Amino acid sequence: MLGGGLAGMATAARLQAAGLSTLVIEAHGHVGGCAGYYRRRGFSFDVGATTMVDFEPGGVGAELLDSIGMDPVPGDRLPGYIGWLPDREVTLYRDTGAWHRERLRVLGGTPRHRAFWTRLDQLASVFWNASRAGVRLPIRRPSDALHNLRALGPRGVPLARHMNTTLGEMLHRHGLRGDAPLVGLLSMLVEDTVHSTIDRAPLINAALGVTIRGAGLTRAHGGMRGFWRRFTVHYRGLGGQLRTGCPAERVVGRAGAFEVHTRRGVVHARQVVSALPATTTARVVPDLAGRLRPYLDRDEPELGGAIVVFLGVPEDEVAGQEFTHHQLLQDYRRPLGDGNNMFVSVSAPDDADSAPAGHRAVMISTHTGLAGWAGLSDAAYKIRKREIGERLVELARRVHPSLGERAHVWDVGTPRSYERFAFRPRGAVGGAHQTPGNTNQNAVPHSLGVPGLWLVGDSTWPGLGTVACALGSRIVADDVLRAARRTAARR
Ligand SMILES: Cc1cc2nc3c(=O)[nH]c(=O)nc-3n(C[C@H](O)[C@H](O)[C@H](O)COP(=O)(O)OP(=O)(O)OC[C@H]3O[C@@H](n4cnc5c(N)ncnc54)[C@H](O)[C@@H]3O)c2cc1C
Repeated sequence: MLGGGLAGMATAARLQAAGLSTLVIEAHGHVGGCAGYYRRRGFSFDVGATTMVDFEPGGVGAELLDSIGMDPVPGDRLPGYIGWLPDREVTLYRDTGAWHRERLRVLGGTPRHRAFWTRLDQLASVFWNASRAGVRLPIRRPSDALHNLRALGPRGVPLARHMNTTLGEMLHRHGLRGDAPLVGLLSMLVEDTVHSTIDRAPLINAALGVTIRGAGLTRAHGGMRGFWRRFTVHYRGLGGQLRTGCPAERVVGRAGAFEVHTRRGVVHARQVVSALPATTTARVVPDLAGRLRPYLDRDEPELGGAIVVFLGVPEDEVAGQEFTHHQLLQDYRRPLGDGNNMFVSVSAPDDADSAPAGHRAVMISTHTGLAGWAGLSDAAYKIRKREIGERLVELARRVHPSLGERAHVWDVGTPRSYERFAFRPRGAVGGAHQTPGNTNQNAVPHSLGVPGLWLVGDSTWPGLGTVACALGSRIVADDVLRAARRTAARR
């Protein structure tokens, strides 16, 4: 396994639990990648993902833990969070009934609004169920199509016709494309989950993204560090091997006899799964480079980055709010990113693994373009980093007015940080901005037709996020096991 992010660790653990012998090769000093963590002055900060999606009973993440025999990780189920729009606040309740009432109350209850939400809910319900049943895309073989028909069920098959529709088209059809608060809220949710805009976001993916709360958001005690401590102990307990601080440099050979050249020697493997970003896979695995090239060229303009401010603060600076998570939009008319759409996550009050007693860990994140961070001199970079950090904290003070005034830790992560610490080329995170042209049937597949070589992770289908990586790991683990059984049967 190349890469010990969520996708790599999940795939390796599934395979190890199913009886294969696995080794994860990870460049960083510990696992996690974009769902990782770092420690500073007694605080533990999540570097990217702060919430695990669909890790509760019946969910895609819970299925992962079940399949490897691991107990659920203790954590807090988020009851929801507040969406701060420029002119109103909407509580994004996890509870379906409360959310239905709230959205009609705050965003409009006309027959058009009701019809829009009914259709979105229907799509979300069918495709969440299909995800949990292990739907697999892109369809490469007749057996995939058959499997998907079963996963979708009779209610879902007719809805597959929406595969090439965008959320914007559906809003137009309901006469709601010009409804600023509704479009503002949807834009925030869609940018966060499929990294796209309303008019480009594939409808089905957007419907899933808009409803992730209903699928359950959990923050582990100790944040992602708490999750990974348990996960790695479990993986090692299954017999899995983990080599950290060990970048993979080149993979050569063929199925049954691969050589993985790393900075710390050569490893032999029958099959290799690359859970690296697709651009890195193309560099490290020459046999996949040519086949990946059309996807990489297509998706290059669609890559984006993130900025995160990490604050370690006295508890009173975040007091007075019922929810620990908040999402803020400043301006309906300006493009999203660089503070216009940002997420504020605060560690839970009793989470002593995330912050020292009487303190909290705070993560403020926003999207950013990569071009503005490329080619800066060190001095220009420092200024830009300081300015955006101050700006994000200032904007977050709409929620917590004295936030950061007495911070013990104040760090800012930028695309440069993701490049340096998470080894993401150019600091791009989360895969491509999703459109009908690059996702689902057009997504980077898990196999490019080279026996014994597989891809998984957020630059492959179904894309970014912990739930997407957990689903991808299931598909790839099944394929690897099938290939291993075929080889064993031939011997
Ligand atoms: C700011 C931010 C906030 C987010 N918030 C959420 C959230 O709240 N909920 C959610 O579900 N998702 C969230 N996400 C998305 C989620 O974190 C990612 O989609 C997911 O973690 C990606 O996992 P991955 O395994 O595909 O890739 P990665 O996490 O990038 O893992 C790849 C691994 O490969 C390693 N690696 C790279 N090159 C090499 C090499 N040559 N040799 C060996 N190892 C190598 C890296 O160090 C890394 O550990 C967020 C992302 C960001 C950036």
